[in-house]
Amino acid sequence: MKHMRKMFAIAGLLILLGACTVAEQVQPEYTLIKNGQILTMNAGFDVVADGCVVVRGARIENVLRTCDGVAYPNAQIIDAKGGIVMPGMINLHNHLSMVAFRGLAESGVVDVHDRLYNYFFPLEKALLNRELIRVSARHAAIEMALGGVTTTTDMYYHEDEVAKSVKQVGLRGVLGETVIGFPVVDAPEIYGGLEYARGFIEAWKDDELITPAVAPHAPYSVSPEILLKSKALADEYNVPIILHMAEMVNERETVAANFPNTTQEKSVVQYLDDIGFLGANVLAAHVIYIDEADMKTLKVRGVGVSHNPKANTKDSSGMAPAWATRVAGVDMGLGTDGPMSSNQLDIINVMNYAARVARIDSGEVSKFEPRELVQMATIGGAKALDMDDKIGSLEPGKLADIIIIETNSPNMQPHYDPYATLAYAAYPSNVVLTMVNGRVVARNGEIRNVDMTQHQAEWTKITDTVAEFAKTLKRRGN
Ligand SMILES: [Zn+2]
Repeated sequence: MKHMRKMFAIAGLLILLGACTVAEQVQPEYTLIKNGQILTMNAGFDVVADGCVVVRGARIENVLRTCDGVAYPNAQIIDAKGGIVMPGMINLHNHLSMVAFRGLAESGVVDVHDRLYNYFFPLEKALLNRELIRVSARHAAIEMALGGVTTTTDMYYHEDEVAKSVKQVGLRGVLGETVIGFPVVDAPEIYGGLEYARGFIEAWKDDELITPAVAPHAPYSVSPEILLKSKALADEYNVPIILHMAEMVNERETVAANFPNTTQEKSVVQYLDDIGFLGANVLAAHVIYIDEADMKTLKVRGVGVSHNPKANTKDSSGMAPAWATRVAGVDMGLGTDGPMSSNQLDIINVMNYAARVARIDSGEVSKFEPRELVQMATIGGAKALDMDDKIGSLEPGKLADIIIIETNSPNMQPHYDPYATLAYAAYPSNVVLTMVNGRVVARNGEIRNVDMTQHQAEWTKITDTVAEFAKTLKRRGN
């Protein structure tokens, strides 16, 4: 009897433990997604009404007219219930861990300089550590998974911690270790990020979800020598280079002032091209202050561009000539920028916003039609990353990064044109399933791979610390 009681106690403990941990997913060989309106985002923009996506392992095996008569032993069946089935969205510019500081420095700020020097830098200097970076990156990745982002880029510090969290949630990440000309949390020596990046790339270069990268911060904060060393490192390992480019109105002057022997005569893009920095593995964020010659250069060099209109307008940085850049043939996708700059991390809101600012800027309603917005959110982003052979569309052989967006909620009805519904009516909360590499990472608002109770406890500890420190920042109301 005593023995039995002990057994029950152990069983009870196991049940309790089971409730607190995340069950390992048993991955079926085949998954069929049926009853959905499939936006393939292939070259012909084929839409398959009531079609069938066949996933085998990590890849899409086929996109069929119907699932009727299709049978595989032990296949997982996912019923899209009439929703939109499409490639997962790609967030081309982000700083995930800054989500810990979201909502600070939103009032009483004079300008970008004030925001940077009196809020951003003091916050980062006082609070950044491996734990904050890891837990906050996990939080941001959870938010994105729930909102239909399957690939995110990042540039920050201790990028190995970001990688652990993005991988834990189950998203795909192109993650750049920051190289910058002053001491930072993971590099006490200036430009120490370069060596850190080498170790990070070495450790993660063969990961199935993480593409490690090097991220020289910007042309005005990184010397030409270090820009070229960053490029050499990226070329050596065949990984991307991520940087901010032509974001500031006076960037050309700042480059010239900070780095003698560069010239004010040239645009930032021409300067970068002249030193031999630009190439197909460069992903540039913002790219606001450029002219037609610059656009041609970006196109010829194969540079990818992240258009981040929500952050640029909120920071009053300017309005990127996104339409002209696209017409010039530059590979361009959409990004949010960090959570202190854009606050929301989903790409659905960016699609919506990109059209509005382009139209008010040009006075022309034809700029960025809904299908072009969805293109930028998916295959356009993949092209900017040079990953369009792997992700960005639903085609046989591509990795199974797939989302389902329901169309039954009041805001999604009536549903005539799927591109218009997505671009203008949808919210990230309409996303009901997010799959990466053939694995479901979020479904019906629930995250699969993270113990949310534990995450919430760790997250609260971080935000309590941030809230306490925020009281010491210079202005009231923050
Ligand atoms: Zn940024």
